[in-house]
Amino acid sequence: MSMLVFGGVILLVVWASKNGFTRVYAPLNKYGYGWYFFSIVLMVLLHDTYFYWTHRLLHWKPLFKLVHKTHHLSINPTPFAAYAFHPVEALVEVGIIPLIAFTIPYHPTAITIFSLYALLLNVMGHLGFEFFPKGFVSHRLFKWHNTSTHHNMHHRLVKCNYGLYFNFWDRIMHTNHPHYEQSFEDVVETREQGKIEMLAKKAVLK
Ligand SMILES: [Zn+2]
Ligand SMILES: [Zn+2]
Repeated sequence: MSMLVFGGVILLVVWASKNGFTRVYAPLNKYGYGWYFFSIVLMVLLHDTYFYWTHRLLHWKPLFKLVHKTHHLSINPTPFAAYAFHPVEALVEVGIIPLIAFTIPYHPTAITIFSLYALLLNVMGHLGFEFFPKGFVSHRLFKWHNTSTHHNMHHRLVKCNYGLYFNFWDRIMHTNHPHYEQSFEDVVETREQGKIEMLAKKAVLK
């Protein structure tokens, strides 16, 4: 259902673009390469804010029961949860595409790169595996980027960690779980321990 909603809305945006209703442009360097690359960064920043606040709204009790509960049926999610939405939530999620298309001058490849990046981050958040190294969430620069542990905690503990790409809004609004940093370090510790055990097993087998 989510994919149908996503596909339908994107099809409408493509139609609107072909008929001159959106801010699509060509060729690639019409506004310079600077704008081309900046437009992708802008889309990510805009989506991060859009996602945080629509997500907070979906956690409002009446909306949660009606709509967002479907996504939270996954308590320890897998990448399949990346599109496990109620159709209304799917409509909210894909809403970022028309919002961009009607407001920001964009090249079709820029919005495609943005969409792929969004998908990648969405899958990473639901992966159930932490990629980032020890100390990532306490590093003065990297702590502003979210991790797989961050969204996994959101599914497990619900009323915390609402952000998507970045940790700006969760920090500003004080919605990071108080044990986020410690949980991240515990996950990394377990992962590293697993690696050591696996190597030891291999050594024994040799
Ligand atoms: Zn949620
Ligand atoms: Zn999720």
